[in-house]
Parts: sequence; C-alpha cells; structure tokens
Amino acid sequence: MRIAVLSDIHANLVALEAVLADAGPVDAVWHLGDVVGYGPDPNGVVRRLREIGALGVRGNHDAAAVGGSEIDWFNPDARRAMEWTRTQIDDDTRRWLAELPERRTDAGVELVHGSPRQPLWEYVLSPGSARANLDRLAGSLALHGHTHVPVLWRDADDGVELVRAADTSHVVLDDRRGLLNPGSVGQPRDGIPTASYLLLDMPPVPGADAAVHAGDPAVGAGATVTWRRAAYDIRAVQEAMKAAHLPTFLVRRLELGA
Ligand code: ZN
Repeated sequence: MRIAVLSDIHANLVALEAVLADAGPVDAVWHLGDVVGYGPDPNGVVRRLREIGALGVRGNHDAAAVGGSEIDWFNPDARRAMEWTRTQIDDDTRRWLAELPERRTDAGVELVHGSPRQPLWEYVLSPGSARANLDRLAGSLALHGHTHVPVLWRDADDGVELVRAADTSHVVLDDRRGLLNPGSVGQPRDGIPTASYLLLDMPPVPGADAAVHAGDPAVGAGATVTWRRAAYDIRAVQEAMKAAHLPTFLVRRLELGA
C-alpha cells in the first residue's frame, strides 16, 4: 500500500497540485491538518482534497477557521490571515473542515496534527516531547505535522533518535515506535522553499484496519518512508497573497522556506 502523507497545506493550492503530480498514482492520500490558514486559496485546497478522497485530521488553523477560539492564541500575522480566511470559506469548505476529527487511525497508523498527547497544539521539537509521545502511542507509528519540518523521532537504546529528512531521503521502519513528520506542503520552515511531503510504502498487515492492540505486530515495520520535495510556482502564490492583502511576512517566508 502506497500512501502520500501531506501536512500543513495552508491554503496553497499550487503547492498541493505540484505534490499530487510528483506523487503519481497512490492508494491513498492522508493529510495531517492545517489545510487552511496563511495561504490564498482555502476553498480550492479543500475542494481538491475532497475530490481525491483525502482522509485526515484537524489542525489548529482548521479549528480556528470554523470559528474556534484557537484564533486567540495566534500571533498577529496568523490572526490577520485567519480573519481573512474566515471571510473567504464557503459552506462546503466550512462543513468539511468542521467534520475533521482530532485524531484518526488508518491501517493501524495514528494520524494527528500536533502530537498524540495534544493533537492540536503540541510542537514535537525536543527529545523530551518526542519521548513522552512515543510512550503513549497505541500502536507503533504516528504521523504528525505542525512544526513544518520533516523528521522522524524513534525509540533508541539510549533514549530517542532524531532522523532528519535533510540527511537522508528515505528510511526503512523497523519494530521501534516512531513519530513521523512529512514537513509542510504549503509553508515549509526547514530552510528549503519547495513543498515537502512523504510517501509511505507499507507492507500489508493482517487485521491492521481495526483498532491496534498491545501485542499486535508493529504496523510500521518494513514500511519505507521517502521524503520528497516538489518545486512549485512560489511567485504565483505570493502574487495571490498580495492581491488578498495577506501579511507581508507570510508572503516573504514562502520564498525563504523559513
Ligand atoms: Zn501549520
């Protein structure tokens, strides 16, 4: 089973199209939230994800877009962009965003936006936070986003190992528990401006569609993770953002990937 895992698309339809073209035929598309916010095309991105039947979870921006008090925690630029987003989204987009669950399990893999213990808000940036979240996994693999940086945190003899996409293009998972982040499609922050995502090639696991139980085989074991980057027309997205009077800092960061 070949799955394209996308996170933090942030209303960037041009980047989403580049990623889908780069991924080619896949069995499923999973998204890890923050479908909207920051970018210029929230309705277009949601329409496209609905069209391809993407399954996923809610991010803090998605919650804010449908009226959630999450907006109170946004910095001034994010807040301005979210206020604009709220005026743009149509009923179909609103309904689809509102129905996104905070977490879901597909093929034995947990999907969340921030972290397994705090699905909307936690940034997994430190070994301590990775450790705490690995320890509370129901299965052996969780997919998460939110930091906009592509990495894998996994169990190691002496604590936690951090595997950076910057250092390796692919990893074969074993039976150690892992937290896997595809980076951001629509607003990368790892210093590389191209759209980031990953392909997960999973061997079939009998019974893994149901809930994961202690003692089950590690769902991720044998899976190959390939982090990929797709170039897209950044300038076109920046122009659309300027036309919408979105904050200059948000326009600028797309070309920096930071
Ligand atoms: Zn985000």
